[in-house]
Amino acid sequence: MLAVQIQRYGPAESLACVDVPTPQPAAHEVLVQVHACGVNRLDLLLREGKIFQVPLPRIPGTDFAGTIVAVGADVADRRVGERVLAAPILSCGQCEHCLQGEDNLCKAFGTVGSTIDGGYAAYVRIPARNARPVPGDLDWITAASFGLTYATASAMLRRGRLKKDETVLVLGSSGGLGYAAVQLARCAGARVIAVCRGTQRGASLLTQGADAVVEPGPRMAEQVQALTGGKGVDLVFEHVAAATFEQSIASLAVGGRLVLGGVTTGTQASLDLKAVFTKRLEVLGCRGSGRKDFDHVLELMARGAIRPHVEHVLALERATEAHHLLESGHLLGKVVLKV
Ligand SMILES: [Zn+2]
Repeated sequence: MLAVQIQRYGPAESLACVDVPTPQPAAHEVLVQVHACGVNRLDLLLREGKIFQVPLPRIPGTDFAGTIVAVGADVADRRVGERVLAAPILSCGQCEHCLQGEDNLCKAFGTVGSTIDGGYAAYVRIPARNARPVPGDLDWITAASFGLTYATASAMLRRGRLKKDETVLVLGSSGGLGYAAVQLARCAGARVIAVCRGTQRGASLLTQGADAVVEPGPRMAEQVQALTGGKGVDLVFEHVAAATFEQSIASLAVGGRLVLGGVTTGTQASLDLKAVFTKRLEVLGCRGSGRKDFDHVLELMARGAIRPHVEHVLALERATEAHHLLESGHLLGKVVLKV
């Protein structure tokens, strides 16, 4: 079968289009014929090998949608012919965390397309519990465009205890994760200040749920303070990390929380300890998402409350180009590979 592998860490050109044997499902797995696979920032980080390293070769691709073509001997609740999309997080399904839908706290935590091969391929095998029915008559491209980002954003907002009528500052709002957070925070009844470069993308975010847009950079906190009457925001949704962290902390209100769910620009930043102490700030880490977050997102998708935005659809063979598009930083919305 056709697949795109990370064979060595490096630039987008290190992705290799290869012909590999079609996998067979184990007893607890299903085999999915992939129709579309979303491209995530995570795929780029895995390929670069700087922040995360996975055993190579690895077929990336966390978000994919397709048809079940075979089921393992022990699979009772999925059937051949079913339209499914991948739930991103791998977990044991049996520990106390998993039973509460908090799979991201499970000792067996992993990610489809990272811990195991993903959807940059004609076929992929995944645990049956990670194959979830596509809501309604959603098309393949849309079905492959939202799982990881919306579930992660949902988990982060839950961890950050965002409440109705609070103000949240969303970093990197034009990227997949930030864009999801803008819509989800709006759904939760919060006031949203989006951080984004470029007036055109800023204008678009205002139509997607943002109440105001600010530019990133050394004056971000000043803009936020001006927009909040000098109070600051209740929650900062942070994943850009090193490049923005100091300004993010300076944007918080007294008693404010910062939830950190990614480290796109690097893992080291200086922290104003005096501000943490005198303003009673909370810095909260959040890794991945739980089943309850994914269920929440599927429910919102099913009733049309959230709308992922797909900007480019490319053939699987053009995965290198897809990675370049994400790296360009000029996107608003997702790139999806068509298989
Ligand atoms: Zn578990």
